[in-house]
Amino acid sequence: MSDKAARRILLATTNQGKAAEFGALLNGRGWETLRPDRVGIELEVAEDGETFAENSARKALAYSECTDLPVLADDSGLEVDALYGEPGVRSARLAQGIDRDRTEALLSLMHGMPAALRAAQFRSVVTIARRGMVLAVGEGVLRGTILSSPRGESGFGYDPVFVPDGRELTLAQLGMSAKNLISHRRAAVLAALDELGRR
Ligand code: IMP
Repeated sequence: MSDKAARRILLATTNQGKAAEFGALLNGRGWETLRPDRVGIELEVAEDGETFAENSARKALAYSECTDLPVLADDSGLEVDALYGEPGVRSARLAQGIDRDRTEALLSLMHGMPAALRAAQFRSVVTIARRGMVLAVGEGVLRGTILSSPRGESGFGYDPVFVPDGRELTLAQLGMSAKNLISHRRAAVLAALDELGRR
């Protein structure tokens, strides 16, 4: 860090994969990211809203009532064109168990679909809030294709079956640094920081 101290921001997530990506995205931009357990916050926020924006705001506002720090939340998910945008806001609840179980459930839903029908996108909506007030919102999308079997070990969620447009490798094969150059989460964070900077 140079002459200016990094500003501290609380990440409103217990998802380790997301927190790692936010850390890498924000640390080089003058922010120190803190996870909830670092500041003694343990919170369950119901994510049963109809939209990513609604869930993202809910999480950011709920955490922001527990701290004086600014808070950053994201709600995100996978929207498959041929499934009319499903699993969408239900991405984290498509199946019980671990990420691999949800990926298997997605592949079953898409079983037999030809390559031409396997287009999909990740969407992320980031909300920055402080003391019960929304300060900024940003949204990002990453288009790609769903494979019929997983490839790669890195990342989280549906990364092993998602090949971004213009690439040949899945997000789980590309790794976090390459993912963070193109991801829906990057676009959403940058849009939210941009709005925050204009306030
Ligand atoms: P939520 O935002 O906590 O509701 O969880 C979003 C869910 O969508 C995650 O549990 C993943 O299954 C999926 N998801 C969101 N973003 C990504 C991503 O970047 N890679 C893989 N899966 C993702």
